Amino acid sequence: MPPRDRKDKNDESQPTLQEIIDRLGRRAECDILVGEALPDRNFDNHTIIVSDRDTYYSVHRDHILEAEPVGPARFRFFIRPRSAIWRASRTNPDGSQYLLAMEMFEPPKMLLLPGDPDAGTAQDQQKLSAGRTIEGAAKVFSGACTGGDVYPNNCAHFLSNAFIQAGFAGLGSSHSCINARCSTSARRPIRAREMRCWFEAMAITTGGAVQRNTGFWAVFQLDESAYWGGHAVIIDSDNWKYYGTGWYSAWDQHSFQW
Ligand SMILES: [Zn+2]
Repeated sequence: MPPRDRKDKNDESQPTLQEIIDRLGRRAECDILVGEALPDRNFDNHTIIVSDRDTYYSVHRDHILEAEPVGPARFRFFIRPRSAIWRASRTNPDGSQYLLAMEMFEPPKMLLLPGDPDAGTAQDQQKLSAGRTIEGAAKVFSGACTGGDVYPNNCAHFLSNAFIQAGFAGLGSSHSCINARCSTSARRPIRAREMRCWFEAMAITTGGAVQRNTGFWAVFQLDESAYWGGHAVIIDSDNWKYYGTGWYSAWDQHSFQW
């Protein structure tokens, strides 16, 4: 009877207990990728591992320690720890223009500078007149969506909620400017650039940086190098208060009044 931890000379395919334990120990430290493999034609000696329809990886083939079949053409690849793994992902996995979906990216931190308006408070809002006006939207701005949902960036989402609550029903139903809405039943527009388009459609007066004591304005602020999506906000220039999720005075200012 041969010892159990030795290979049976008659069965070379049978690993020893020690070999199995060593292999599982190596695996425990590995990075794991699952997918179908083919040679990488860009990187010498690399293998491309296609995980799904949106993602593939490129790994040096010497860094793939083991591959275990998990389907007809799919393998679980055990990659040496700390190997450089390149990843390529589709930018529009659902077929929509994901790059335009700035509501999914946090805006830069706001830094109020001397001379900037302050955030309007509930007390300030009490003094405003209700109505289907920019002032009326400022009055009901609540930093929330009626649908209760939130995105990493809510500047357009919460502002459009206020405009619709103030009575701008056209913004709530279909509008040529608005392509993206939140997924709750509130269906609020969520993109600042699309709010700019709507501001432009509504505007009787347009301008640049808002001057004091010129009434209420809908404002679109933009510095593409800082944040491609821009920022939508309301200002009460008489009281120098803004209503929205922030104020970016260092960006280009586009103001709209009606
Ligand atoms: Zn919403």
